[in-house]
This record gives sequence, C-alpha cells and structure tokens, in this order.
Amino acid sequence: MRIKQKRKTTIIKLDDINAEVTQKKIKNLHLRVCPPAGHVRISAPFRMNQEKIRVFALSKLCWIRKQRQRIRNQVCELTDKYIDQETHYFRGKSYQLKVLENNCSPFAELIEKKIFLHVPLGADTKKKRSVLNEWYREQLMESILPLVKKWEIKLNVSVERFSIRHMKSRWGSCTTKTRSIRFNLELAKKSIECLEYIVVHELVHLLEASHNSRFKALMNQFYPNWKHYRKELHSLPIKV
Ligand SMILES: [Zn+2]
Repeated sequence: MRIKQKRKTTIIKLDDINAEVTQKKIKNLHLRVCPPAGHVRISAPFRMNQEKIRVFALSKLCWIRKQRQRIRNQVCELTDKYIDQETHYFRGKSYQLKVLENNCSPFAELIEKKIFLHVPLGADTKKKRSVLNEWYREQLMESILPLVKKWEIKLNVSVERFSIRHMKSRWGSCTTKTRSIRFNLELAKKSIECLEYIVVHELVHLLEASHNSRFKALMNQFYPNWKHYRKELHSLPIKV
C-alpha cells in the first residue's frame, strides 16, 4: 500500500535570515522572497535532502538580501505619509514629525525630539518627502566626511570622490578603478556605527575588490564588530 505523502515544513538558517522550507510533491526547487516583511520561502521536492536545499539557498543569499531590501524600500515609500506625529528615523533614533505649512522656502530642522518640516502651503507627499530627503542628505554628508577622512588615514587609501544616492538594494558601492564610492541616502536613518561599518566596508574594497577571505580578514582587523552591524542593517526594515 502506498502511503500518501503530505507536505513537510521546516525552518533553515541562512546566516541571519530564517527561511521556511516546504517539501512537497514537486519536481523543482523554488525560492521566493515575499512582501511585506521579506520572508524567505522555499518549496522543494519531497526527497531532496535538507543540506542540499541549504547549500542552494546559501548560493542565492546575495540575491535574497537584495530582494529583501527592495521590498522593504517599496513598503516604506508606500507607508510614509509625512504627517504630524509620524515616526521618522535619524542616526538610529526615532523622532516625531511636525509639519508646518508656510510661505518661506522649505527646510527641515531637528529640535529636541521632533523633526520640523517647513513646507509651502498645500505641499503634497512628494514635496514633503523631497524636503525631508534633502535634509537627510545634508546631515549624512556631515557625518560621512569625517568618517571617510578617518578611514583613509587608517587604511592608507585615498578616495577620489564619493556621493550620496537613492539606492534600492545596496547600502554602498565602490568602483575601485575610479576610486569612487556611493552611499545610500537611507544610511542617514541608521546609527553612526552602522554608517561607519559601511564606510569601512567600501574603503576596504580599495585594498581588496571582492568579498573574499582577505577582505573578511581586513574587516576583522580594522572593524572587528562588522558582522554585528551588518546584521543590524540587514535585519531591520528601513522603517521600523
Ligand atoms: Zn562590498
């Protein structure tokens, strides 16, 4: 007599990410990252052994992280309304927003526990977002400059230029050929330690272009807690 096979669900750990594995009567392995929280779900054939599934999923870890970031950014863009008492993050801390509509030129400022957003009368969400982002950009530039200088000296490297961009799936990137570095604007919302980790990571690329064992050894040497901050950046959604 044949025993009818049912589905079997288990959780496997991929670095700091939990993936839900459902084994059922299918031929191929499927992996997907689901909105809104970026849960990882894997469907696998019943007979496939767990280790094989894990190895496959680990080989996709980079892609999984990018998808998670992309999904979370989308969710964030959809949920921010830029209204009074809405929570916004700056340098790892939460602040309440206070929107003031007036006729002066738009700007944002931080006073005690609140971010004041001065916008023209009748400004829409898009306008408010751009005023706040402009402020984030100025603040981030202020925090990044001394960090880049500090780590240029420590690592004995020189950065040709750096810029701050909106990026969907990465916290930073480095083009070693031109020694130029790009930082994600969202870093303005993260703690200085997380920002410093990204600065060190991108500058270490000027010594070692790929994420190989030499790269990891350099990170361990210069910023021993880097794994902790990487986890913090990857485990929290952009907007908590
Ligand atoms: Zn890198």
